[in-house]
Amino acid sequence: MVLLSLVAEVLALRCFVGIVLATCAYVVYKSTAIKPAVILTPVSLTEEPSTKEPAVETSVVHEPLDPSKPPNAPVSVNYFPSRECNYKCKFCFHTETSSYILSDEKAREGLRLLRDAGMRKLNIAGGEPFLHPKLLSSLIRYCKEDLSVESISIVSNGSKITEKWMRENSQWLDILAISCGSFDAQTNVKIGRGDDGKNVARLFQIVEWCRTFNVKFKLNTVVNIHNWNEDMVANIEKLAPFRWKVFQCLIVAGENDDETRKRDARKFLVTDEQWRTFCDRHKHLSCYVPEDNNSMASSYLLLDEYMRFMDKGEGMMTTSASILDVGVEKAMQQIVWDKKSFVERGGIYDWGRADMRPTKSTSCGTSLNLKELEF
Ligand code: SF4
Repeated sequence: MVLLSLVAEVLALRCFVGIVLATCAYVVYKSTAIKPAVILTPVSLTEEPSTKEPAVETSVVHEPLDPSKPPNAPVSVNYFPSRECNYKCKFCFHTETSSYILSDEKAREGLRLLRDAGMRKLNIAGGEPFLHPKLLSSLIRYCKEDLSVESISIVSNGSKITEKWMRENSQWLDILAISCGSFDAQTNVKIGRGDDGKNVARLFQIVEWCRTFNVKFKLNTVVNIHNWNEDMVANIEKLAPFRWKVFQCLIVAGENDDETRKRDARKFLVTDEQWRTFCDRHKHLSCYVPEDNNSMASSYLLLDEYMRFMDKGEGMMTTSASILDVGVEKAMQQIVWDKKSFVERGGIYDWGRADMRPTKSTSCGTSLNLKELEF
């Protein structure tokens, strides 16, 4: 009897342990199956090139909107609707080689395809996007209202932005990035960035509008032979961008690599030492996000005026077929997109508007998103 009850107890205990283990296994399975992976990537860098020392930036891969999207979904796309520009930066690596521009309707069709494929952030660049203000308004409104794209940004040289446009359209804009070559008028002229001497005054005006209309302000600077020794600290502190992308002047084959192209950037390149000098002078600024040439190659998803992906990595620039003709997935297979580099350079960051979620002030500008910084 004693023996029988002992056997029964052992069996009951085994059964209990089995149930506990099975329950644990189920809970673990559910938690990993339902929640998409959240990858925390503390990186030392940025969104256009870098050295390893400067600002440490926390990069977060958000939970995908739709876990059924493939891992290579085009999370963040840089779209260049037009190559036209009113400036003539001598190192420009997206030159005015064509005046083609898609109709509003076709551009919307392509943006919908991208959203359906997993695009969460759209950056509109150029050329100068504000040369086509109506198209710009239409596209950003469509992306926010109809496609619910998480973040919309525009990169502009700042020369054509008006208060009226900001007032009427800022509700659909998360980030406005302005490119700034120098705080010295003569240096801007040497670079090819306008010659009316008013770039800096315009820049400060745009910052005011961003504050008024609650758009996050970002700054981009290309370090080149004319500005590598400039001390920009005081002005950057005053402008207080939430993010200051600093790029190393870059040669892109087919765009600016020799005298047969629209631009020849060879004389504008900086040495590694000059690049480091610029980085060392500014790296203490918390908004500073440097990106050297190595970080740039193939880590951006670039879409040209025909909605073809461009591969500006190693060798001659190549393009895919248009997503309007072959779809997003097939077009992406025709170019190299280094998603790992994209994540490591901080391609996914605090890209939502400041007024969307609770925020906290930082030392270099507007505000950062608490939820995302917790990761
Ligand atoms: S403002 Fe931008 S697009 Fe225009 S020329 Fe300069 S670098 Fe090129």
